[in-house]
Amino acid sequence: MTDITLGIIGGGQLGSMLAIAAKKLNIKTVIFCDDIDAPAQYFCNQFITGSYDNKEKISEFINQVDLVTYEFENIPFETLNEINKLKTVQPKPSVNRLIQHRLAEKDFVNKLNIRTTRYVSIEKKNDIDALEDFLPGILKTTTLGYDGKGQYPINSSDAIHSLNIDFSKGYILEKLVKLKKEISIIITRFSNNRYEIYEPIENIHEDQILKYSKIPAEINENIFNQSKDWAMLIAEELKYIGTLCVEFFIDRNDNLYVNEIAPRVHNSGHLTINAFNISQFENHVRAVCGLEQIPLKKISNAKMINLLGEQITHYRNIQKFNENEFFFDYLKKEIKEKRKMGHITTLV
Ligand code: ADP
Ligand code: MG
Repeated sequence: MTDITLGIIGGGQLGSMLAIAAKKLNIKTVIFCDDIDAPAQYFCNQFITGSYDNKEKISEFINQVDLVTYEFENIPFETLNEINKLKTVQPKPSVNRLIQHRLAEKDFVNKLNIRTTRYVSIEKKNDIDALEDFLPGILKTTTLGYDGKGQYPINSSDAIHSLNIDFSKGYILEKLVKLKKEISIIITRFSNNRYEIYEPIENIHEDQILKYSKIPAEINENIFNQSKDWAMLIAEELKYIGTLCVEFFIDRNDNLYVNEIAPRVHNSGHLTINAFNISQFENHVRAVCGLEQIPLKKISNAKMINLLGEQITHYRNIQKFNENEFFFDYLKKEIKEKRKMGHITTLV
């Protein structure tokens, strides 16, 4: 019997699924989130709400838990660092600081001799003038972006001047890759050279938001192996503990690029709940809590569809799903356009 209480920062669907996985392992969860309506409150043992710099609430949270993890990366470094002085935070705060900044993240990946898109730091509007080489491109905020938020396609250097952007924040300009496909690798690192790694997952985005994921990914053997090797190299170099996701681009000439790293469980890995003996969520909890590592076994091929905004309504009204269909309703209070409301995984 384990007697561990795991603290989770963040209360969205990833927090819910982590709490569900923890429960299965007899681990209690306390979720700390700045949103009073956060859906993960329905799945954890205790829910504490407060802003991510509220010292009193954070200390109440720390007092309840044995160790801390997080379900999203945009948490102030200072918060994680302060918590880490009292209770172990996994993945380490320094890992989160590196990955939450697009420039630092890409510099780190390039230093490992892993290909990324071409990119350049942009600090002011005029920086873009001499950069025809990077166009067409996408201008992205260096921090706090997700689901395509804070991103602007730039086709010509003139285009930037008509945009109303606050350049007091840092930006990065990335050359647009002529995409053939996108894939992701989910890997859970337990300790030095000990991993569980899932096969590559093929992802389709619409309006920069993930819409479909499936296994097996339709890719050649080279890309299959290279994406796994690169994910292992990244996890090892970071001395990462827990589940991590690496998002990749494949261009029309079958070149592989790392797009970005997520220091957490990931939307493209939802199908692991039904398609493998151990999900990405359970593996994360096992790794951060120091539990036994169990070899991964694939149960089935699968595809997952994200249900955005009003799309959830149709599924909420279905009385009985087929045996190979698994519907998850995130129980979010409000339906908003393009908001991730739930997903459905089909084993195929
Ligand atoms: P987010 O943090 O919002 O997930 P990403 O950098 O992963 O940001 O971008 C979201 C999606 O936008 C990508 O999955 C891809 O479909 C598209 N995209 C982003 N950057 C590029 C690029 N340089 N070339 C081609 N497509 C891109
Ligand atoms: Mg992304």
